[in-house]
Amino acid sequence: MTKLLPTSTAGSLPKPSWLAQPETLWSPWKLEGQELIDGKQDALRVSLQEQQKAGIDIVSDGEQTRQHFVTTFIEHLDGVDFEQRKTVKIRDRYDASVPSVVGAVSRQKPVFVEDAKFLRQQTDKPIKWALPGPMTMIDTLYDGHYQSREKLAWEFAKILNQEARELEAAGVDIIQFDEPAFNVFFDEVNDWGIAALERAIEGLKCETAVHICYGYGIKANTDWKKTLGSEWRQYEEVFPRLRQSNIDIVSLECQNSRVPMDLIELIRGKKVMIGAIDVATNTIETPEQVADTLRKALQFVDADKLYPSTNCGMAPLSREVARGKLNALSAGADILRRELLA
Ligand SMILES: [Zn+2]
Repeated sequence: MTKLLPTSTAGSLPKPSWLAQPETLWSPWKLEGQELIDGKQDALRVSLQEQQKAGIDIVSDGEQTRQHFVTTFIEHLDGVDFEQRKTVKIRDRYDASVPSVVGAVSRQKPVFVEDAKFLRQQTDKPIKWALPGPMTMIDTLYDGHYQSREKLAWEFAKILNQEARELEAAGVDIIQFDEPAFNVFFDEVNDWGIAALERAIEGLKCETAVHICYGYGIKANTDWKKTLGSEWRQYEEVFPRLRQSNIDIVSLECQNSRVPMDLIELIRGKKVMIGAIDVATNTIETPEQVADTLRKALQFVDADKLYPSTNCGMAPLSREVARGKLNALSAGADILRRELLA
């Protein structure tokens, strides 16, 4: 990126109400067949237009074609039975009914590549594409086949690498892996989680990112955050190993979080997407609040490596609130950009 402080979002954006139930995770589609295919493309166009209108520099599909950031990818794979459901505890936090791994997992055909090509046709701006990370994928499944979290993660990493290579060929500039599980299973992250992520990015020439957050603004997550005490030091557990990894960019939750900003020093040298927008509240940040968070982060990230972003995806928010937050992100980054260039 040649522009100083290029803005982006962490992931999902709200869908139009004619496509899916608004302000809901795992919202069912309202269309079917060809109408659904066309509807998703139209929603992607709208989402892109809103990002561009707000002045977002690195744009995405707003995850308009997927119901959920993890499940939709898994639905396209062989070896997972969506009828055979079991209840597991997701990220040690809340019970969810999830599909079962019943055989060797594999990807018979690309999952998001056509969507990425479509987005590429619509814009000349740099584009970022999100995929679930291997550890977060296994955490959203019951595994009756491999019966080893590490083995299953490794198989998913190989599949993600196939998808990522094709996304790169489709013209994606940054491929991001969402790994909220990195904030929970520290021993596993250091033992094999980051290694699996590096397997997923093997051979890529485009930039790569890992998004590590405290989750969507849903009740299970906000309740969990209340138990984390006055300082959230989870990042401290994984940053030293992450700094040594080949990942180019680390995406973090910093707005209204209790993460001590100085922890970012532990990944000095990496590009850092600083979450300066809280996705767990309908209150829209002022540009000055955004600038303030970015200014604090600047003590620990070189200016040419700071990428203003959101804490997490905004799918559960209303479109109006999300639009307001995108505008605030742009305006806040602009305040700081002008200070730096003055
Ligand atoms: Zn997130």
